[in-house]
Amino acid sequence: MTPTTAPSPDLTRQLAGQLRQRREELQALLHAAAGASIATKAPPDVQDFKDVAAEDTRAQVDEVAQAHAAEEVDRIAAALRRVELGTYGLCQDCGEPIDERRLRALPATPYCTACQAIHERPPLQRR
Ligand SMILES: [Zn+2]
Repeated sequence: MTPTTAPSPDLTRQLAGQLRQRREELQALLHAAAGASIATKAPPDVQDFKDVAAEDTRAQVDEVAQAHAAEEVDRIAAALRRVELGTYGLCQDCGEPIDERRLRALPATPYCTACQAIHERPPLQRR
């Protein structure tokens, strides 16, 4: 058995393909959302107040969804950069190879399970 340093080229290619596809979906979503927020600035005189309130709530939800989508696009871009650099699948903190099952589930993850746990700890406990 050769020691694992990174996922196999086949797996890397497969996951990179998934990441590119996911990024395209997210970018389409972000573009659609950008178009929609322009559309909601149409004159409100054709709507009653109830509709306006519903629109506001939806706009806020969309903003959160958009922020998440934008973050994911960043994570995916960083992961694809690591594919090009040949460091994809290695933890960005400890440099250890990330478990293959974890990579398949979360292809854009920059950390192994142990380091992810540290990053997810609330800031109060980290100090
Ligand atoms: Zn790690």
